[in-house]
Amino acid sequence: MVATPAGNRLENLWDDAKAASMSESEKLLYRSNLLGSDKRVTNYGGGNTSAKVMETDPLGGGQAEVLWVKGSGGDIGSMKMDGFSTLYMDKLRALKGLYRGVAFEDEMVGYLPHCTFNLNPRAASIDTPLHAYVPKKHVDHVHSDAIIAIAASVNSKELTAEIFGDEIGWLPWKKPGYELGLWLEKLATENPGMRGAVLESHGLFTWADDAKDCYLTTLEIINKAATWLEVKSAGKPAFGGAKVPTLPADERRAIAARLMPVIRGLISKERHKIGHFDDQDAVLEFVASQDFARLAPLGTSCPDHFLRTKIRPQVVDFDPANPDLDKTIASLPAAAEAYRADYTAYYERCKKPDSPALRDPNAVVWLVPGVGMITFALDRATARISGEFYVNAINVMRGSSAVSTYQGLPEQEAFDIEYWLLEEAKLARMPKPKALAGRVALVTGGAGGIGSATAERLLRDGACVVLADIDAAAAADVAAGMAKVFGQDAVRSVAMNVTVESDVAEAFAFAALEFGGVDILVSNAGIASSAPIEETSLALWNKNMDILSTGYFLVSREAFKLLRQQGIGGSVVFVASKNGLAASPNAAAYCTAKAAEIHLARCLALEGAEAGIRVNVVNPDAVLRGSKIWSGEWLDQRASTYQTDKEGLEEMYRSRSMLKRSVLPEDIAEGIWFFVSDLSAKSTGNILNVDAGNVQAFTR
Ligand code: NAD
Repeated sequence: MVATPAGNRLENLWDDAKAASMSESEKLLYRSNLLGSDKRVTNYGGGNTSAKVMETDPLGGGQAEVLWVKGSGGDIGSMKMDGFSTLYMDKLRALKGLYRGVAFEDEMVGYLPHCTFNLNPRAASIDTPLHAYVPKKHVDHVHSDAIIAIAASVNSKELTAEIFGDEIGWLPWKKPGYELGLWLEKLATENPGMRGAVLESHGLFTWADDAKDCYLTTLEIINKAATWLEVKSAGKPAFGGAKVPTLPADERRAIAARLMPVIRGLISKERHKIGHFDDQDAVLEFVASQDFARLAPLGTSCPDHFLRTKIRPQVVDFDPANPDLDKTIASLPAAAEAYRADYTAYYERCKKPDSPALRDPNAVVWLVPGVGMITFALDRATARISGEFYVNAINVMRGSSAVSTYQGLPEQEAFDIEYWLLEEAKLARMPKPKALAGRVALVTGGAGGIGSATAERLLRDGACVVLADIDAAAAADVAAGMAKVFGQDAVRSVAMNVTVESDVAEAFAFAALEFGGVDILVSNAGIASSAPIEETSLALWNKNMDILSTGYFLVSREAFKLLRQQGIGGSVVFVASKNGLAASPNAAAYCTAKAAEIHLARCLALEGAEAGIRVNVVNPDAVLRGSKIWSGEWLDQRASTYQTDKEGLEEMYRSRSMLKRSVLPEDIAEGIWFFVSDLSAKSTGNILNVDAGNVQAFTR
């Protein structure tokens, strides 16, 4: 390994003892996971690795040389064995006879499935020829920020020679594909001492005949580049130093929470998007810097970066030295429109007769000086990853502009990648979005029986969910369980007492910061109480009114404010009760508060309609299972009112119902789902009883 200063250098994590018992393909997986686990080596989903291995041929039992190479999609850091495609090397070599030249290189992708070894269903990626033809057993291709900083400099060829001498070659920019595979083969064959190559504006290739050697070479070359950059940029302030101040963390978050719903509304007219906020140091340094205004419009270079981030970010007009958030918010519609016009003009300038249709022309990355970076995508993970990619791009620009002049890709090259027919085919293969994809729901009482069943139902259909509950620990527990099933990106929890105005405002601001806004409010937090009227204390009466009536008013009011800022409609569902329609013995406070809830919903349906905000009510009855209400005082009181126990009550409610069925939290969740989904797009001001049939509660 090259001698590097102590500190931020990649360490050799290879464990000989572990690797000793591994087959060659297992060693490839081991190496891939080690490399991909460090984002300094490659970005999420970026790069690929391969090994040429002798295998027993299932046809005839002889030995065959097989290329194991990361298949289409996936990420080398987290992939498993099934992420590799396997192809016969002799068939891959034979493809050269079919190659009609660079103008036809895309058709070579169609031949790759014919080379499949052992019926492996993993589709081979466009990068397969880049590995196949390098005359070495092991090949790594990674997108290290340090290497791309050199690759994206105007004099990257000279810099590569200066840093690496003859051991690392250099190839000019070429779209990945069959032709680039042949270029790499030629370079490696003509220079047998070479250990890899820098690809202009793209990344690094390294190779060796041994798995561990290949791994060590990759680390060594990246460390060498990082050290060289560090030495060359020592003493120079990054991006020319700060131009504007960076605001304190709490102010940054508050500003982002105000901006995100407005931006979200502006870019979600066709399909709802989810937002992500990032104010890590690298971002803050860039957006406050002298060079920011000059570098941001140049766009990202590595194709992997701009496929996720779009070529250029949107710079938000905000002056942290003299903040005027209202002015900034007022500037956003025109800024979004200008970006769309600019992107559409780029499409028109570069399109070819067979180009796919114009895609969503809105910005993905929004940069706010002194505040941070906001990214939007159709789902939360993609929004987060797009942000990570832009941080890669920032790192590249920082390194490159410290030692040279940074250059983005020529516009036409960028377009040809972005609107590549093969890229379009990949998009077309993506599964259809789920019914609630891109939607954000805030569920009050989310830690409880009906609240958590509802959250799960909405998550299952692709929504992001904030569980808001007075019991913060219980909500965090429920959220942690759901994150295991639906992913960390999809679910959050927040402490909120629905009766406290500031709690409610903060919970909505939290949702805006975490997901970009809110589309769905499920107002469900609740309690139950039972007492004859003479024994109903004022405190008990007020408690019911506070939580079930005032609390529903407060959360709806906050939801309305946010939904109006977004301007893309929304859905509010109140979980009331059969008791809001039908009188029930010894429960006057509860029944009256629930009746107030139902009428509040009707009033809000009237007010919200012109803004596309629908408000509906689901009335449960006797949902004993899963409900915390039915494990406390209420249970004892109802049991004593009807002179029975819990089982007896459940049975009593079941047999009392017209349909003779028990009502479960999942049944209520289905009703709520109907009102939040587009299936009920034309329903507002309605009440849906989910009570197994109760004639007293029939609406009229
Ligand atoms: P649950 O007790 O399991 O859940 C209610 C949740 O609300 C709890 O997690 C609780 O911590 C939370 N909560 C209570 N006060 C709060 C406050 N001030 N701020 C924020 N969160 C608060 O009960 P559940 O059965 O899931 O009830 C949910 C809703 O359904 C309630 O509004 C209830 O009145 C209504 N409902 C339930 C039934 C039933 O039989 N379970 C019948 C009719 C109506």
